[in-house]
Amino acid sequence: MTSGAAPAASDDEHAAAHPLAARGCADVAALDALVVGCRACPRLVAWRETVGRERRAAYRDEEYWARPVPGFGDPHARVLVVGLAPAAHGANRTGRMFTGDRSGDVLVAALHRAGLASQPTTRSADDGLRLTGARMTAPVRCAPPANAPTPDERRRCAPYLAREVELVDPAVAVVLGAFGWAALLATLADLGWVLPRPRPAFAHGAEVVLAGPGGRRLTLLGCYHVSQQNTFTGRLTPAMLDAVLARARVLAGAASPAEGAAGG
Ligand code: SF4
Repeated sequence: MTSGAAPAASDDEHAAAHPLAARGCADVAALDALVVGCRACPRLVAWRETVGRERRAAYRDEEYWARPVPGFGDPHARVLVVGLAPAAHGANRTGRMFTGDRSGDVLVAALHRAGLASQPTTRSADDGLRLTGARMTAPVRCAPPANAPTPDERRRCAPYLAREVELVDPAVAVVLGAFGWAALLATLADLGWVLPRPRPAFAHGAEVVLAGPGGRRLTLLGCYHVSQQNTFTGRLTPAMLDAVLARARVLAGAASPAEGAAGG
């Protein structure tokens, strides 16, 4: 016998729908608050929490964040830095994007040299770092095993980046690596931006100007990822990173740090 009532949505269905609420976020603070409550990807939820329980020996006395990591920095940044995903013992530990690992050290030192960060180091969420005119984010907000999100996980997380791009409305996106490049292009296509065909390929130093809805414009700058794999081998040097950020500053209108709104 059936009751005739519609079945209640399962916890899994509620979790899977969580990212879609990003569209309704009125500002970056609301978006950041939404992100941290997400459990839409079962594999990544399990991984981020397992890493947080087991911990690396050097951090065994620390409480890991072990949740999704929102973007960090100026909510109206002219320069948006787009990475890949939080590192297991970096942002997944500290709860702040590009914080607590070597990749963050390299990136934030360069942002400081470019006049976009208040200090050259990024150690913990309460270390006082502030970005002015810049914001750091990623297309996937949970630490993935082997730094490798699946295509489904990237698609599930996409509404957060999409809404962040709409709300921040940057002039320039410095995209660190091919994964972020493809993810940002897919997100822009979803938002109705006009993309060249074939889609522009990632390369270090690549520069692509895109047109979006309402007359928006965004320049993508390709940059090798600040991973240890690239920085230890010299594939990405501090000078190369400085050159990309200098170009970003020029394209962003070269506003002085004092002219941007501070954020964190
Ligand atoms: S990766 Fe994104 S969509 Fe998946 S659980 Fe984390 S925040 Fe949610």
